[in-house]
Amino acid sequence: MKNIKRSWAEPYKMKMVELMKMTTPAQRKKAMKNAGYNTFLLKSADVYIDLLTDSGTSAMSDHQWSGMMMGDEAYAGSRNFYHLEEVVKNVYGYKYMIPTHQGRGAENILSKILIKAGDIIPGNMYFTTTRLHQELAGGKFEDIIIDEAHDPENEFPFKGNVDLNKLEKLIKKYGAKKIPYVSIATSVNMAGGQPISMKNLRELRTLTKKHRIRIIHDMTRVAENAYFIQQKEKGYEHKPVKEIVKEICSYTDGATMSAKKDALVNIGGFLAINDWDVYEEARNLVVVYEGLHTYGGLAGRDMEAMAIGIGESVSDDHIRARVGQVIYLGEKMMEYDIPIVKPIGGHGVFVDAKKFLPHIPQDNFPAQTLASEVYLDSGVRTMERGVVSAGRKANGENYYPKLELVRFTIPRRVYTQAHMDVIAESAARVYERRDKIKGMKMVYEPKYLRFFQARFEKL
Ligand SMILES: *Cc1c(COP(=O)(O)O)cnc(C)c1O
Repeated sequence: MKNIKRSWAEPYKMKMVELMKMTTPAQRKKAMKNAGYNTFLLKSADVYIDLLTDSGTSAMSDHQWSGMMMGDEAYAGSRNFYHLEEVVKNVYGYKYMIPTHQGRGAENILSKILIKAGDIIPGNMYFTTTRLHQELAGGKFEDIIIDEAHDPENEFPFKGNVDLNKLEKLIKKYGAKKIPYVSIATSVNMAGGQPISMKNLRELRTLTKKHRIRIIHDMTRVAENAYFIQQKEKGYEHKPVKEIVKEICSYTDGATMSAKKDALVNIGGFLAINDWDVYEEARNLVVVYEGLHTYGGLAGRDMEAMAIGIGESVSDDHIRARVGQVIYLGEKMMEYDIPIVKPIGGHGVFVDAKKFLPHIPQDNFPAQTLASEVYLDSGVRTMERGVVSAGRKANGENYYPKLELVRFTIPRRVYTQAHMDVIAESAARVYERRDKIKGMKMVYEPKYLRFFQARFEKL
């Protein structure tokens, strides 16, 4: 009996199902052409398995759905707001919380309050909306993630870590006064869902405290990060994820949250902060951009679903199955020799498009091309995270990120293991005919966050 492994399985069962549409190759060819070879512009009705994002695509539990029926839709002082406030305080430990319609609403408010023109914001790799709000507020983002994070082959378990030397150099160069905060993401999205270690975070806290610099936590995927700490960091193997999450938050001064990820809701977010002055200012600004500080652009029912979802998101059983499914898909792809970012991250499998399509130069968008080829093969929708997503610098030059990736992002509690098999098989079929695949040119480019709406043509 010794060699029989024990599989994890989902800690939930199905009560309702959503029927999906299957498409033919001819239908997909037409749909992809109409969408300008940008998977963001496909109609969801033309998609079979949708791995575009894990944002707002999770399945809510029966508890959350019943919470939706308990929405208190008062304009001011909804009881759901107070429930959410209490949960944020209890689960994450932050003192003050303002709901926002989603993560970028919180980023906008926070950037406006903390950043002055000419400021420097160091961070463990950029995120699209986060960096843009920092730039729009007059700041400049500086990447201080460890070099390993830019190497998809490197198997270091904490590729979300900050290189403290890089930060010290910035402090020396610009002075601490020019650095309003360090922007720290847990489970770094653009690096492939890679975690930061508790040890690194603790050291970062010590260094920033010395220079009186705040740490603002992009806590969008904090539970997934906590799971990796439990699995891989010494001293945490017996700690519940819930405790680890709280410890992570305790080393930071505030947070922006996109609850559409970890927190298992379809819409919502918040800004959390320990500093009363910042909170007061945020309460002023939220009225301008989102709504009154007790709803921030959300319905009462949305806040209730979020409050319940946060509780579910830090359960060990939930997070083990969630990350377990992602790892299952990643291992399946490795069996087919598909080049992926290692270690496998928390919210998706990131395929290395530079390795997959080595004959396509970055100016012809290998990752964008690969994402469209996978859709054409099977109707599986993925997204580009490479030169298109990276956008342009303030001076108009393209950013050329080292990582040119296609993200196969797994929604939480939505797809089955059989779906994971279909996805890996489709990627393998495209891989088999990779030599015949040609790149693309961009024929339409929007001014901001171009990856959302850019259009392409095949070369
Ligand atoms: C999604 C995301 C955001 C932005 O949140 P929205 O809810 O999409 O506005 C910010 N940071 C990270 C790491 C994210 O993944």
